[in-house]
Amino acid sequence: MLLLGSGELGKEVAIAFQRLGVEVHAADRYSDAPAHQIAHFAYTLDMMDPEEVTALVEKVRPHFIVPEIEAIATEALRDLEEASFTVIPTAEATQLTMNREGIRRLAAEELGLPTSNYAFADTFEEFEQAVETIGMPCVVKPVMSSSGKGQSVIKNTDDVASAWEYAIAGGRVSASRVIVEGFVEFDYEITLLTVRSIDPVSGEAATWFCEPIGHRQDSGDYVESWQPMPMSEEALDNARSVAARITRALGGRGVFGVELFISGDEVYFSEVSPRPHDTGMVTMCSQRFSEFELHARAILGLPIDVTVTSPGASAVIYGGMEAKHIGYEGVAEALSIPESEVRLFGKPEAHVRRRMGVALATAEDIDTARTRATRAAAAVTPVKT
Ligand code: AMP
Repeated sequence: MLLLGSGELGKEVAIAFQRLGVEVHAADRYSDAPAHQIAHFAYTLDMMDPEEVTALVEKVRPHFIVPEIEAIATEALRDLEEASFTVIPTAEATQLTMNREGIRRLAAEELGLPTSNYAFADTFEEFEQAVETIGMPCVVKPVMSSSGKGQSVIKNTDDVASAWEYAIAGGRVSASRVIVEGFVEFDYEITLLTVRSIDPVSGEAATWFCEPIGHRQDSGDYVESWQPMPMSEEALDNARSVAARITRALGGRGVFGVELFISGDEVYFSEVSPRPHDTGMVTMCSQRFSEFELHARAILGLPIDVTVTSPGASAVIYGGMEAKHIGYEGVAEALSIPESEVRLFGKPEAHVRRRMGVALATAEDIDTARTRATRAAAAVTPVKT
């Protein structure tokens, strides 16, 4: 298989495939990325360049092309799929989800799923108009961005100009299109990991839902997550129904991370990743099989089991500084916390807000698991070596 994107999620996917005896080729835009360090073969290329992506696929000729990130030349994936390569879950799914507009229009306008109100803008004038139409407070995001980059909340008219500037600077591409979303006053938000694969008994396509994952975001980036998130029966039914509809529309096989806002029993669709989700790293300690193992199993058509084995939590370890060649202090202290472990990703360079690792913890209840994971993450500090 060929992994397009070799970050921390890709590294775990690579390990899962390798344990099932599959040869792993890992690609990313920079060398020594986390999955590069453990793959059978590693490649560095401009992943947004269709010619480079196509040339690599034609050289490797993988059974499966497994995108791990959004920033890929998805038009090349379409052509490769037509040339009978298998793209996970589908080339169209990767294309729709790399752009907030594609997935939002599919969810809200084609499938009729409940979402926040929204409008798009390409210029400052259109943006001012969009903010007026949607009303304040509202959330502004570049259509091509992830992990909170360029995202801000407008509370009053003083914020409008700075939100525009921030979104333009934070987009993945130079184009300036943004989405303005009505602020959803949710009670909590979840990721519903949804697995699409083949039912080994019937041989038919089937869908499995993991237990919901609660998470906390700071400036649009995940800082902690836990599983299972307690929900009312009705909210959970609604969440599963939304997840089933959006993943069916995207099609293909694999794990999807469906992000939902929950208010009472009501569920709003926010986003979906057609691949394992960062908040789902908690499943490395809370499920019988992690989301990465489930992704590999679903792709390979092997049995799926979404059992939760213990309440668990994850907490992010940030770089906290700008540095090359880093080491870590406080690992022993973190591991002295009961039922805790750390996953340090091995990224070659730290940035203040770069995710460098994650602490995982289990406990008899979610609150204790969260406290343990947060304490373990806080104990670990990247240092210059
Ligand atoms: P996103 O990058 O779209 O996943 O957004 C990151 C996080 O920002 C979400 O997980 C929410 O915590 C928050 N957020 C995004 N959009 C909205 C919205 N329309 N209303 C309220 N909070 C939001």
